[in-house]
Amino acid sequence: MSRAQSRSREADYYIALSGNPNVGKSTLFNALTGLRQHTGNWTGKTVGLASGNFDSKGKQIEVTDLPGAYSLTAFSGEEAVTRDYLQSSNYDCVVIVLDSGILERNLSFALQVLAIAPKAVVCLNLYDESQRRGIFIDEKALSNELGVPVVKTCATKKRGLKELKNAVCGVCSGKIKCNTAKNLYSLNPESYEQISSSISKRCREICSACQHIEGENNFDRRNRRLDRLLTSKAFGIPVMLCLFGLLFWITAIGANYPSEFLSFAFGEIKQVLYRTFDYLNISPFLTGLLIDGVYTTLSWVVAVMLPPMAIFFPLFSLIEDSGYLPRIAFNLDKFFSKCGAHGKQSLTMAMGIGCNACGVTGCRILENKRDRLTAILTNNIMPCNGRFPILIAMIMMFFAGSSFGFSGSAITAVLLVLIICACVLFTLFVSKLLSVTLLKGETPGFALELPPYRRPQVLKTIISSIRDRTLFVLGRAVIVAAPAGAVIWLSANINIGDFSILKYCTDFLDPIGRFMGLDGVILMAFILGFPANETVIPIIIMSYMASGTLVEYTSYEQLLILFTSNGWTITTAVCMIIFTVLHFPCSTTCLTIKKETGSHKWTFLSVVIPTVLGIILCILTSSVMRLFGA
Ligand code: GDP
Repeated sequence: MSRAQSRSREADYYIALSGNPNVGKSTLFNALTGLRQHTGNWTGKTVGLASGNFDSKGKQIEVTDLPGAYSLTAFSGEEAVTRDYLQSSNYDCVVIVLDSGILERNLSFALQVLAIAPKAVVCLNLYDESQRRGIFIDEKALSNELGVPVVKTCATKKRGLKELKNAVCGVCSGKIKCNTAKNLYSLNPESYEQISSSISKRCREICSACQHIEGENNFDRRNRRLDRLLTSKAFGIPVMLCLFGLLFWITAIGANYPSEFLSFAFGEIKQVLYRTFDYLNISPFLTGLLIDGVYTTLSWVVAVMLPPMAIFFPLFSLIEDSGYLPRIAFNLDKFFSKCGAHGKQSLTMAMGIGCNACGVTGCRILENKRDRLTAILTNNIMPCNGRFPILIAMIMMFFAGSSFGFSGSAITAVLLVLIICACVLFTLFVSKLLSVTLLKGETPGFALELPPYRRPQVLKTIISSIRDRTLFVLGRAVIVAAPAGAVIWLSANINIGDFSILKYCTDFLDPIGRFMGLDGVILMAFILGFPANETVIPIIIMSYMASGTLVEYTSYEQLLILFTSNGWTITTAVCMIIFTVLHFPCSTTCLTIKKETGSHKWTFLSVVIPTVLGIILCILTSSVMRLFGA
């Protein structure tokens, strides 16, 4: 009977993938199961357990992808998840995935796993890369040393998978015997100090018995040369700014034409819908609710969000896959440590650019509770993809001359980079503030792994990024936009006395909004946009249009006319940018923060801190700008 059959289960065998971070476990998991775990060339992106199935030799095998771990003696964070899983008897065989290029370092973890897992297969992944680097491993000799089967794989090209599956089936069924007796180290944390040196010695012994290295090679030389440039004191940060500038510029210029086309197409469809509703004698109320409310909001969200996201996310994923993100963490580390925060926070900050809820979950890579809370509480300061369209709209209308020509998109890119720089400064400021008030304490030093630069898998990355990030975020926005559109339209068109419900609300908020350099409609839009920030601009448009203005918006020029006729000035646009960056997180992010911290107090603070900061900054900015007559 299989070891794991004590649980009531359906698969024939249960296996787990374990290994150091960034050795290709998720890529291997995806290649085996056909599923789509997130992959990327940096340490710490797998922070939970994922399971999938595959068939081999008529057997159904369930595989669990464990978070990457360097050791099994850690008692915090994701390493503990991996250790607890491996110490349970819920699996038949563990596949220990190693990076063939850094065998000696990876073997330390492998020996620890073999000390507690009686049945295992060692997978020498990234073998293509190690070969290119002139590192060759004799898998038979390694198998003799470890007492378990060893298989070479290249997960990205799906090479060696059949051999791996055969070895796994053989070990699970008992046809292949494992002999791990010589690897039995005690993993009692108290005695671990004493045995860690003997594990290191054993790793060296094993490597000298089965590894052959052919001198220095182009791969390592090129990596070193790139690192000299990308992490240098003089060029590291300027190159980073240029790269992000380029990313935003391509996004801005590339998104314009499809956005215009989509706006035009949705406008045409709207006319057809009006005619159809008219033909079908549908009441004006229902026509307004469905076309002016639901359809108009939906079409705005899709036309404005889809094109930039379809460009930005794949490009960002390519950067992630190349191994550049840890270099950003390296470059920013000294600033974070000066502010009492952890350098790895810059990685979770970068993840927040896509989606703050993902960024907050990613904070699990920070082992220390204090550092994790600092990262969680500040993550929302990075504008997510729902807020980028607001920033782009403000820049285009008020600063870039509403044209998406070369100069318009260049100005947009430069201003976006400046806004992101300001966000990083705010993040540092709030981190410092927390480190001297609510979250006092020391941040321990840390070793940041700089993986080799890898040529990204362009097509695969683009497809998976569009599918998993772009369409996911868009889907979420659309799900929220449809009911939001209906609610806004209803509140703008149902009157109590002389005025609509929306008008009462916006009038109530107006004095506060004006004091902040905004107005009641804008504040209301942010409040109603709590489920998804993507709906903020459609809500503003609908509120203004409902209060008498007849402008139909199909371009930024027309939007600008609508906004300025409702009293917008440069000051409003600047304050809008500030409040877009600094206000409460969306509902999904709040729920994620509650889940990750398990605390109402921290969730409450994550709402209060950016909002209060945003309000103060808006008041200061608008006062100063008014003083100078803006
Ligand atoms: P994990 O952290 O262990 O889950 O690692 P990932 O699956 O995210 O892979 C880390 C990086 O290595 C990604 O950029 C992958 O594309 C790349 N990678 C994974 N396996 C291979 C391989 O066999 N060969 C090469 N050249 N790259 C690989």
